[in-house]
Amino acid sequence: MASRKILHADCDCFYAAVEMRDDPTLREVPLAVGGSQERRGVIATCNYAARAFGVRSAMPTARALRLCPDLVLRAPDFERYRAVSREILALFHELTPRVEPLSLDEAYLDISAVTRFRGSATWMGEWLKAQCLARTGITLSVGAAPNKFLAKVASDWDKPDGLKVIPPQAMEAFVAALPVTCLPGVGPATATKLETLGIRRCDELRHLPREALIERFGKFGQRLFELCRGRDEREVRPQRVRKSVSVETTFPRDLPDLASCQAALPALVDRLEARLARHGHPPPSQAFVKVRFDDFSLTTLEGSAPWDALMTQAWGRGARPVRLLGVGVRLRPPEARRQLPLFDEGP
Ligand SMILES: [Mg+2]
Repeated sequence: MASRKILHADCDCFYAAVEMRDDPTLREVPLAVGGSQERRGVIATCNYAARAFGVRSAMPTARALRLCPDLVLRAPDFERYRAVSREILALFHELTPRVEPLSLDEAYLDISAVTRFRGSATWMGEWLKAQCLARTGITLSVGAAPNKFLAKVASDWDKPDGLKVIPPQAMEAFVAALPVTCLPGVGPATATKLETLGIRRCDELRHLPREALIERFGKFGQRLFELCRGRDEREVRPQRVRKSVSVETTFPRDLPDLASCQAALPALVDRLEARLARHGHPPPSQAFVKVRFDDFSLTTLEGSAPWDALMTQAWGRGARPVRLLGVGVRLRPPEARRQLPLFDEGP
C-alpha cells in the first residue's frame, strides 16, 4: 500500500481566538469562553494567558475563577464561530475535497493525491496557516503524517501556531519515543496501569506481546498493539452532505393533548440547537415538526412559522394522543466550493 499523506489542522483556542480577533481589548488578558459560575457552567475554551493560570477546557467556571480571579468570561456566540468555521472549511476544500471535519475548528485532510505545492505536505501546511490567518485572523496548528493518529499528535506538537511534519522515514523513531499518554484512548487509568508495568513510552510498550495486551486491556489491547507501532489505517471520511438535522423523543406515556405537546417542545428545540452548534452546520433554511400519534400514524409539517405554530398545525392533523415528537431543520446546500486558482509552483 502506497504511503498516505494526512494533515490534521486545528485552530488554536478557537472560540477565544474569535473573541480576541473581534475585540482587541481581550488580547492581553486571560480570557475564557464558557458558561457562567451562577449557572454552574464550564469553560469551553480559554486563551493562552488563561492557561498560564491552569485554566483548562471542560473545567467548571467556578474553579477557573478561583485559579484566575481576573479571568474575563464571555458567553459563547456559536453563530459567529460557525461563520468563521465555514470560511476555514472552504479554505481546506481549496486544497482537497477529502476533508473530514471533526468539530467547528479541526479537520483531517487527505492530501495523498494533491499535486500542487509539488505534493509537499510542509508547503501545504504553511500555505493553509498563512491563508487562514490572512482570511480569518485565526491561527492554525497543522500536523502532517502518514496516518490520522500521528497527524493529530503532530498538530498538537508545536501548538500554538505550530507546523510539525512526520515524514514516513521519520515515523519509526518518532513513535518509539512517544509517551504512551499521547496514544488516543490512553487516559489516566490506562497510563497508570502501564506505568506499573514499567511502560512509559511506545518502544517499551512494543515489548508486550499482542496476547498480553489483549488479556489486560481487552479489545483496546489490539489497538494499543497497533498504535505503539505507528499503525492506523483509518481513512479520512469526507463529510457526507447532510440534508437535515433533527432530534426526537418517544414518550414513556402518550401525551394526551396539544397543551402537553407544546410543553414538551422547548426541551426538544434546546437539544436541536445544541446539536446544530456542535456540528457547525450552516444556517438552517426550513424547520419541521414530526408527530407520531398513538395509532402510529405519522405526520411531518414543514414551514417557517414559529415552533409552537408548527406544532399546533401538525397536531391538528390527527388531534389525538401522541407517542413521539420530533423537531428538525432542513439545511441549505453546502457552501459552493470556491475554486480559486492556486499558485502551482514555488514562491
Ligand atoms: Mg482547536
